Amino acid sequence: MSAASIYSSDDEDEIPKNSGVYLGFIDADFETTDDEPTIEDSFVGGQPVWLNPNSKPSDDLISCQNCTGPLSLILQAFSPLEGTLYDRVIYVLGCQKSTCSRKKGSIRAIRGIQKDPKKLAQLEKEQQEELQNLFILDAKLKLDNARNINLFDTKDSSNPFASSNPFASSTDSNPFTSSTDSNPFDSKPTPKKEEPTKPSFASTAAKAAPPTPKSTKKSTIKTLPEYPGYFIYVDQESFKKKQQPNLPENFKIDESALDTEAEISSSGNTSKDLSPEAQQLSNSLQDSVFQHFTDIVSYNPLQVLRYELGGKPLLFTSKDDTAVKVTKNLIPNPGYNPSSSRQFELQIMPKVIMDFEKNITDISQGINWGTIFVYTDVEDYIPELDENHVGYVEEYVGVQWEEEVSR
Ligand SMILES: [Zn+2]
Repeated sequence: MSAASIYSSDDEDEIPKNSGVYLGFIDADFETTDDEPTIEDSFVGGQPVWLNPNSKPSDDLISCQNCTGPLSLILQAFSPLEGTLYDRVIYVLGCQKSTCSRKKGSIRAIRGIQKDPKKLAQLEKEQQEELQNLFILDAKLKLDNARNINLFDTKDSSNPFASSNPFASSTDSNPFTSSTDSNPFDSKPTPKKEEPTKPSFASTAAKAAPPTPKSTKKSTIKTLPEYPGYFIYVDQESFKKKQQPNLPENFKIDESALDTEAEISSSGNTSKDLSPEAQQLSNSLQDSVFQHFTDIVSYNPLQVLRYELGGKPLLFTSKDDTAVKVTKNLIPNPGYNPSSSRQFELQIMPKVIMDFEKNITDISQGINWGTIFVYTDVEDYIPELDENHVGYVEEYVGVQWEEEVSR
């Protein structure tokens, strides 16, 4: 990269061109594709695909804590962790009843993992083979070095690194021997040096595009009420020119939240339950928070998901206790692993409501959340795996509801 390209920020302000956030966008509609979702897919709506058809979370985990009825899947995100081989999925579910809107426990998040020893052994074997290939290559490179052959001679077609080696300018040392002091078995082999490291959510989401196996029918029995389903694809957030898309009319961002004088409806439980701390924070932050939200979203208005493990959530409003918890780092530690803590993982964006309500004309009974945050155990611990090597735990979900507008 040249210095010119770094400093050529002629048009834009302090907002960088990219962020560390991966955004999810609506892809194929379940109704118009023959592909069945698998656990390696990320999608919104439809039925959850559990890690094993015979290993579902307990009914308690997929029930509304307000009305005890079954929840509906909002998001399923395949999100294995960097440097691990086991399967990992985040599920976010919500109650569709309007009477449960704004009620505690009406939206819940589940983290599921599967540590199948056979699958892990197979993946490990593949990695070993990859490593071995690297060693053979390494040995060959050393041999070539001993023969005083220029390793990075691009005319040497037998050297696969000749054209793509980022270290090609330093011909005096072999970059593949520099790491012999560390145990190569400690880490995953990453032969593709030219590719920047991506969060595994993004890389796995990207490779989940090819046709999917049809072996998951058992797990998609319609047991839960459901929203319309859509696959999602993932792209890195970038801040290019703001877009002005033609959003359907039912796309609503509550403009009243911009009004600093707006009264929180007394019929809701938000203002009454607002702690003094929340009130104070609310007053100090005013509504620059919501302004910032709309500003960031305006660059990529069709985003339905923000994913950044260990990153920061994008607050929808400063006027609730979720805002206090998030900004003051008061997210509760996982009860199943009390010595650990939780970190931000993902956030569901209000545009997906438009996709869920595409066939609904009366939105007065519709979905009322503005955004949903999910925080997960930093240790990714699950106390107990069943006979299928699957386990599920509940994670922290923070919901920011739209302000109630008197009609
Ligand atoms: Zn409910």
